[in-house]
Amino acid sequence: MTARILEGKEFSARIKDEAREAVEQLRADGVIPGLTVIIVGENPASQVYVRNKHKTCEELGIRSEVVALPEDATKDQLLETIDRLNADQNVHGILVQLPLPTAIKAHEQEILERIDPLKDVDGFHPFNVGKLVTGSPTLVPCTPAGCIKMLDLAGIEIDGKRAVIIGRSNIVGKPMLHLLMARHATVTVCHSHTKPLGDVTREADILVAAMGKPKFVTAEMVKPGAVIVDVGINRIAPKKLVGDVDFESVKEIAGAITPVPGGVGLLTVAMLMQNVVRAARLQLGR
Ligand code: NAD
Repeated sequence: MTARILEGKEFSARIKDEAREAVEQLRADGVIPGLTVIIVGENPASQVYVRNKHKTCEELGIRSEVVALPEDATKDQLLETIDRLNADQNVHGILVQLPLPTAIKAHEQEILERIDPLKDVDGFHPFNVGKLVTGSPTLVPCTPAGCIKMLDLAGIEIDGKRAVIIGRSNIVGKPMLHLLMARHATVTVCHSHTKPLGDVTREADILVAAMGKPKFVTAEMVKPGAVIVDVGINRIAPKKLVGDVDFESVKEIAGAITPVPGGVGLLTVAMLMQNVVRAARLQLGR
């Protein structure tokens, strides 16, 4: 049996179509949704991500602005920039591209908490995290939200399934837990201290790998027929990206699997566009 390949391109196109329609409605009411991305320093991967976000905004009719601060920008400069954007009515979404340079990395949480929760399109502000955990999600982190949306669009049932997540980060693992639980999956979260990992992952009907370890999940760790969502993005050579899952072996046993590249990464940007629309509506009180 070879798994169904869940192509990010197909699902992201559908998510972007929904966002495009919502943007058109807002524009018809005289509101142009706007996203501002703040990038600090010159991390090449971050520059690619920011360019993709900018391009996708333009494609959908969202006003996009990039504020580039130098590598040696101080925490206060960044906070001042956020304050200015919080007060700007034309800016509906604010996103600080991570990772921050080493010199200000320790202030990451303080910086993210400075963003107006209604403009927090990454969904990382404790207010939005709290909304998610208490069952009234508003602005939800884009990558896990994109994974759920893809499962829905692919017609994959979540209710009553055993789901296992590898990774407990604030960006992927933890929000994924709450999203899957809200959809009535029975969820287990694994992390670097889980032993033995394979015993847990083999129970999964839906396995989400978000650990940042190239090709770590092998066929022996997967239940036959399972749905595999590979969130990992690992650069193993200048032009070679792989996921956390050993795609070649696992696709022979899984029921469905996302590829890397061309899988979850594309959904993240598409969901960001939906979050910009949602943020604009929230600010308009809709
Ligand atoms: P992170 O480093 O913050 O967290 C990694 C998690 O994996 C930790 O909770 C850790 O406990 C767990 N882990 C590490 N080694 C493990 C092991 N041997 N066994 C079990 N658990 C282990 O990473 P993150 O920010 O959550 O990102 C995870 C991966 O997803 C990375 O490759 C990242 O590049 C990718 N990512 C992709 C997207 C996307 O758009 N597709 C978005 C965010 C992150």
